[in-house]
Amino acid sequence: MSQPDAPRQKSTLFCSDCGYESPAPSGWLEYTLSDQRHKRCPRCFALVTRRPAEPPTDAWDHSRDQVRSGFALWRAGVSQLKQSVEQLAVHG
Ligand SMILES: [Zn+2]
Repeated sequence: MSQPDAPRQKSTLFCSDCGYESPAPSGWLEYTLSDQRHKRCPRCFALVTRRPAEPPTDAWDHSRDQVRSGFALWRAGVSQLKQSVEQLAVHG
C-alpha cells in the first residue's frame, strides 16, 4: 500500500536542531520577552523564530494623538472666534 505524499502546509515550522515539525500556530512554545515574540521547540527548547511583538497599545496611542490634535484644532478655532468677536465688539 503506497501513501501519496501529503502536501505540506506552508505554515509548518521545523526545528533545525532535532527535526521536530508542527504547524506554526500550535505545537510550539510561544512567549513574549522584552517585546520579542519567541517560538521555541517543545522537544529540545531550541529557538525557532523570534520577531518583534506588536504592541497592542499602538492603535490606542494613535487615536489618542488624533483626539489630542483635534482638540488643539478646536481650541484654536474657538480662540480665533473669540478674537473676531472681540474685534467686532471693538469696531462695531
Ligand atoms: Zn527541537
